[in-house]
Formats: sequence, structure tokens, C-alpha cells
Amino acid sequence: MTTVSAYAAPSASEPLVRTTIERREVGPNDVLIAIRYAGICHSDIHTVRGDWGPIAYPQVVGHEIVGEVVEIGADVATHAIGDRVGVGCMVNSCRECENCLAGMENYCLKGNTQTYASVDRDGTITQGGYSTHIVVDADFVLKVPENIPYEAAAPLLCAGITTYSPLSHWNAGPGKRVAVVGMGGLGHVAVKIAAAMGAEVTVLSRTLDKEADARAFGASHHYATSDASTFEKLANHFDLILNTVSAPLPLDDYLALLRLDGTMVNVGAPAEPLPITVFTLFGNRRSFAGSGIGSIAETQEMLDFCAEHGIAPETELISAAQINDAYERVLSSDVRYRFVIDAETFRGEAS
Ligand code: NAP
Ligand code: ZN
Ligand code: ZN
Repeated sequence: MTTVSAYAAPSASEPLVRTTIERREVGPNDVLIAIRYAGICHSDIHTVRGDWGPIAYPQVVGHEIVGEVVEIGADVATHAIGDRVGVGCMVNSCRECENCLAGMENYCLKGNTQTYASVDRDGTITQGGYSTHIVVDADFVLKVPENIPYEAAAPLLCAGITTYSPLSHWNAGPGKRVAVVGMGGLGHVAVKIAAAMGAEVTVLSRTLDKEADARAFGASHHYATSDASTFEKLANHFDLILNTVSAPLPLDDYLALLRLDGTMVNVGAPAEPLPITVFTLFGNRRSFAGSGIGSIAETQEMLDFCAEHGIAPETELISAAQINDAYERVLSSDVRYRFVIDAETFRGEAS
């Protein structure tokens, strides 16, 4: 075991504090990564605050991780010391269920091992990326292309793949009208990716405040959902709606914006159940779907796609001491558009 510096939540209601955690010894198929940057995803906040149910504390979160390989196990052939690598939301899966065998570990029927707050193969609870180092099975480590700036690469490991996967699966591309609901961490990456795929992108945000940004990211249209006329103007309009909102929305109002055979995909994960009126689905033969992150192969495909198309998330670099303020700013949507923590600042005395 190696002791490393980290930031952990002591409970659901207390601020995160500096601490130390143990990382396992590097096994034959493991990679030890010196973390350089860790993004703050809204899921980190949902998790530590117990929005999705109780967890064990103290808990280190963070699943948008980039860094350098500093040690590899004897059997690792896919990564070398010095490589720029990334780790996203999962660090293992059963590898033998139908979905794992089909290359979709994110849908592992036994539940994939999440990067944090999950039971690891040795029975311990996984601890995430708000730390200086992490040991991860090489099969769950991604290669970060050289031309994506290090700091900007971090949010791609969750926000990037969570939006790329459904956009790709539901064929966002030329001739398709795609709406992105909520332009936060996930939403702003979704706009960039959908535009790069060739779709006609519309942002549905609560206000018009982010309109100039949305257009700069590649959106052709921007509407305020606080304006009731938006829902009249856009009725029966979209092929695909990607909902990235972290809070409950009146789904029927959004489903009514789908044209024939259109699909609304929910990636936002509010704790509360969301009611749908089936008659809204009957009209236009609409579909409502969910999507959870993406597979390892698809995550690498996404990173390569972003490198090829020059897509980089908009980031605000912070130190570890600013995490608690950053959480409040995410909760009030006061972030443009993803906080990324300089992992060097995790070092220091435990408080
Ligand atoms: P975020 O940065 O906070 O963005 C969420 C956006 O939703 C905000 O920027 C805001 O956009 C809108 N919004 C927030 N509160 C709202 C409200 N009360 N009513 C209407 N709109 C509201 O969060 P994120 O990191 O992008 O994550 C978004 C959600 O996706 C979270 O629930 C997260 O847990 C979930 N998630 C799911 C997966 C998955 O695999 N499915 C993966 C990662 C994250 P506007 O200001 O533009 O309105
Ligand atoms: Zn996330
Ligand atoms: Zn499996």
C-alpha cells in the first residue's frame, strides 16, 4: 500500500478536507498514474451529498482524471511510463457477462466498478481522482491525444463520453436537428461534439445568458426555456433531444418538441422520479431513453474524435482549497463550464 494525499468528504453535510488515502500496490495488470488534473462533475456533488442514496465516508470523488503513467505492472503492454493517460467513471467490470463480452462494460450486468464509492475487487471502497495518484487496471486506462491540452482533457473523461455516446448511438449528424437541454459541464461539450458531427444544434437553456457562448461552441439556435413561447415555436421539431439537466424537468413539455420517431435521451441524473404521460409518447411515435457514460473503446474513440476536431472543454482551473466554493458555484450554475483541479494542490498536511 502507498499513502497519497487527497481531498475527501467526511460526511454528506461537511466540506471536503485534505486527507491521506491508501492506494494498492501496482499489480501485474495495473498502472500507477501521477494525476495532473481532476475535473469536478455534478455527479461528484450528488454522490458526496447523498442525493443518490447513502455512501460510506470519508469518500474521495472525482472521475475526470488525467495524468502521467509513472509505474506499470509486469503484464502491461498497452501503456508505458510517461504516457499521457486518462481515467473516467469506471475502473473495472465483471468481463464475462453478455454486455462486457459485447464490449459495453459500462452496462456490465453485475454493475461496473465505479471510480469512486464502489466496492472494489479487494472489498474496499474505490476512492476517486481528487488525489495525487491512482492505481487502475490498464484495461480501463485511456490514451489522451497529445494535441488536447492536458487540463482540458480531464472533463472529456466523463462529460465528453457521456454526451458523445448517445449522440453517436442516435446518429447525430448532417440533416439531424439536435437539442441540448442545459448548458453546463456536460451540455457545453455536447454542443461542441454534436456540431462537429454535423448536426444542426439548438441549445435549450433557462435564459438567454449563454447564447453567445452557445453559438461560439457551434450551436445554430438558442432558446430560453423560461419563455413559454419557446415550447410553442419548437413543437414537433427535433430528431434528438439530449437532457443534461441535474434537476427534475417537466418532461412532457420537452417530449412534445420531438418530431416523428424522435428520441429524448436523459443523461441528467436527478434523484427524484420523473413523470411522463404516455400519450405524449404516442404522438409522433416518440421514444424516451437513458444513457450511462460509454464503453472504454467508445471513450477512446471520443478522445480521438475530439483530438481530430479540435474539441476542448472550457475550463476554470482551481486549487484544491477552492473545491468547496466550486461546489456551491456548480450548484448555482455559476461555472463556465467545468472546474478542473490542479492535482499538485492536493499535496500537503492532512487537516
Ligand atoms: P452542471 O454543470 O451543473 O450542468 C447542469 C445544467 O443544467 C446547468 O448548467 C443548467 O443549464 C441546467 N440546470 C441546473 N439546474 C437546473 C434547474 N433547476 N432547472 C433547469 N435547468 C437546470 O452539471 P453536469 O456536470 O453537466 O451534470 C449534469 C447531470 O448529468 C448531473 O445530474 C450529473 O449527475 C449527470 N451525469 C450523468 C451521467 C450519465 O452517465 N448519465 C454522467 C455524468 C453526469 P442552463 O443554465 O443552461 O439552464
Ligand atoms: Zn461525471
Ligand atoms: Zn459484466
